[in-house]
Amino acid sequence: MPDRPPTREDRTAATPPDGPPLPPGSTIGVIGGGQLGRMLAIAARRLGYRIVILDPDPSCPAASVAERVIVAAYDDVAAAAELAAACDVATYELEHIDPGMVRTIDAERPIHPVEYALRMTQDRLAERRFLAGAGAPTATWREVRTLDELRASAAELGYPLRLKVAIGGYDGRSQARLARDGDLDPAFAALAGSAERDGLLLEREVEFVAECSAIVARDGRGRSVAYPLARNRHDAGILVESVAPAPPPVTAAIVSAAHELATRLATELDLVGVLTVELFVMADGSLVVNELAPRVHNSGHWTIEGAVTSQFEQHIRALVGLPLGSTDALGPTAMVNLLGSGPRRPARLGGLDRALADSAVHLHVYDKRDVFERRKMGHLTVVGDDADEALARARRALAALHWENEP
Ligand code: ADP
Ligand code: MG
Repeated sequence: MPDRPPTREDRTAATPPDGPPLPPGSTIGVIGGGQLGRMLAIAARRLGYRIVILDPDPSCPAASVAERVIVAAYDDVAAAAELAAACDVATYELEHIDPGMVRTIDAERPIHPVEYALRMTQDRLAERRFLAGAGAPTATWREVRTLDELRASAAELGYPLRLKVAIGGYDGRSQARLARDGDLDPAFAALAGSAERDGLLLEREVEFVAECSAIVARDGRGRSVAYPLARNRHDAGILVESVAPAPPPVTAAIVSAAHELATRLATELDLVGVLTVELFVMADGSLVVNELAPRVHNSGHWTIEGAVTSQFEQHIRALVGLPLGSTDALGPTAMVNLLGSGPRRPARLGGLDRALADSAVHLHVYDKRDVFERRKMGHLTVVGDDADEALARARRALAALHWENEP
């Protein structure tokens, strides 16, 4: 063994995703041990790979499927070096990490997405510039840093508007809908800290006929595969339901335009693994990009039971250099999210007998220790005969579940 840290050359033979596949028994490092990290770990385990997770919470959802958890914050560069030393290849399940972690790991081991892809997707303003450069349509937007700029841009764009933090928002948090002049001051006051630090994204509200997501996977040789579009429904900014393949008004032409766009964006991001493009479908069939996630996505959970290869397995395959699997749907599939309710308390799920009385229902529980209002706790999937029927059955099962000890 050389008495120096391994260089790129030392590891080339063993690990790059464009070389021979990394063999089962190798270790995959994952920053983030939430439900996405957990489902990535389960897919990796099934293929015989080992998992090391970096997460601030030692009992995070992925902990029970990981070989080891490095307990550290998402900006702990020293812990990132520790993760690099403990794995053969690395990835992350969230965009809210310090790019310095990716750089640190990249000096030692392959990591995907690369730092450029992280930078272009963790900051909504950088993402908008990237999308503009790529010729991808978005809602009309402005960067806003002060209340005066907000007032001027709101007057210019007209209502209704959405105001979002550039960095750090998720599940509809840290954003506001602006319908009139009187909404500007309180919305800005709530986001002022972020405005000064990172800037805010102000954009027109889009009158879409459907929200969809395009999920593609790209391997280290630049080959891409695309999943059938999912049609998504949100409630106050949080995903509640997806159905795939997307039913009308989504047409074959819309699907192929979305696939072309998502594949092109994945290529421009130099992405290896899964990319999700959140899209608004307009009445004329045109597409407007809402946002990008360089990772597996809640709207792709349906692929676990509903597609030949799940989004999680696909990401792992790309990362270790295995051929990508088929993205074909096995049938019309519905996924509904199991959200928390009530105040924060230990999570105990009830109603399982009734929910699983329908033998087509698949239940996924993320093993989060505590439940609270609107926390993503699990999901249910039904592969049915048609999208409406699958969705009705998934909703019925969801309605049978409850979180115990709600006051
Ligand atoms: P998050 O990062 O929290 O997912 P998004 O920007 O995707 O934030 O917003 C969450 C949801 O809010 C979207 O999926 C969509 O339903 C709604 N939304 C956000 N921006 C707009 C917009 N400009 N026009 C219409 N709906 C929007
Ligand atoms: Mg979103």
